[in-house]
Amino acid sequence: VADAFNANVAAAQDALNAFIVATPEAAVEAARATDAKRAAGETLGKMAGVPIGMKDLFATKGVQTTAASHILEGFKPEYESTVSQKLWDAGAGMLGKLNLDQFAMGSSNETSYFGNVISPWRRPGSNAPLAPGGSSGGSSAAIAARLCPAATGTDTGGSIRQPAAFTGITGIKPTYGRCSRWGVVAFASSLDQAGAMAHDVTDCSIMLEAMTGFDPKDSTSLDMPVPEWTANLSADLKGKKVGIPREYRVDGMPAEIEAIWQQGIAWLKDAGAEVVDVTLPHTQYALPAYYIIAPAEASSNLARYDGVRYGLRDLPDGANLQDMYAATRAAGFGAEVKRRILIGTYVLSAGFYDAYYTQAQKVRTLISHDFMGAFSEVDVLLTPTAPSAAFALGENADDPLAMYLNDVFTVPASLAGLPAMSVPAGLDAQGLPLGLQLIGKPFDEQGVLNAGL
Ligand code: GLN
Repeated sequence: VADAFNANVAAAQDALNAFIVATPEAAVEAARATDAKRAAGETLGKMAGVPIGMKDLFATKGVQTTAASHILEGFKPEYESTVSQKLWDAGAGMLGKLNLDQFAMGSSNETSYFGNVISPWRRPGSNAPLAPGGSSGGSSAAIAARLCPAATGTDTGGSIRQPAAFTGITGIKPTYGRCSRWGVVAFASSLDQAGAMAHDVTDCSIMLEAMTGFDPKDSTSLDMPVPEWTANLSADLKGKKVGIPREYRVDGMPAEIEAIWQQGIAWLKDAGAEVVDVTLPHTQYALPAYYIIAPAEASSNLARYDGVRYGLRDLPDGANLQDMYAATRAAGFGAEVKRRILIGTYVLSAGFYDAYYTQAQKVRTLISHDFMGAFSEVDVLLTPTAPSAAFALGENADDPLAMYLNDVFTVPASLAGLPAMSVPAGLDAQGLPLGLQLIGKPFDEQGVLNAGL
């Protein structure tokens, strides 16, 4: 199996650019270790013999870890992230490090220093390359193209769910704190959460179990046992209530998105659920609040890339320390990353802090309260994952606001730290995949998985 996937990874690299580095030996080595364990009659882990892709935001010992940036090019960590270590301990093997938007900032994979990922999907009769979504676009493209059966993703504002929707796969972001952030390159620490991407709900459930668990090395890690989600999967939704948030019915939403939403409602009713309308009144403020909070945290987190400790160092002749910082950061960060650092430092600066950052934090609290209100009536929420199917590469590249709007349905759950999943829900008129999102109560991944099954 490892050989077969290694061959697929190599064969598709030129066409899709899904991987930044391939590690075929690691995949084979893990497979051999599983064989040896099986021969010795030892118990096998949950991911035994499964070769996976690792988003290049997870530190992997001795293997280049770049966050798709020039500033980390050549950086080989001395340590392994907790999540990747858990997956290796469960028997998975690494096929390689997957491409992504630089520092996970983006919705299309076009901000990667290593070139954009190309979705394996095409509109009929057209060869125009489509975006695989982002930031986990290497993960989504690789799974959709059968280069790996599963991959890690990270989700700060939708980076697991939106690429899953764009490529017809499944992706789940657990409750904030379930997966350790230790060894994950930080973007916005109060939002960043690792999760699982795979073809279907069952595979995501198995993988998420292997990734989850308390880690004393992450101060926001949840000290809770890992539930047996897979053993408790059930598609029977009798007695469950599903909420349809009316504020997600935004102006100008394509009729096709509305149609799959109605289809999703019908599926859930068939499975026995009762479907009711709910209201999340502050939804329209989620996107602006996210695009203040996330850049604010990013500007602070990215201060550590100074040319001293990691990766790139640009030291012009006769330069002093300040010159080196400036030259290194000017050369090392891409345009979108610089935009976020500028926005973040602006909203945190004296004089603007209360007007922007404090205000956004208050909005965040209101959004959490909205969800808690809805969850006093229903078990899970159903919404579209994204306001459109995959767009063409380049279509939104010059318009950051249009790009940010793609996250309109995914950021509210991120701000509230809730578990949320995108499942494939069919194709649009042009034959491109569309996704539906399920949002659950805190710690209720089971409810989300079961509704998605
Ligand atoms: N697209 C969003 C952003 O650019 C979300 C990214 C993410 O979840 N990492 O911030």
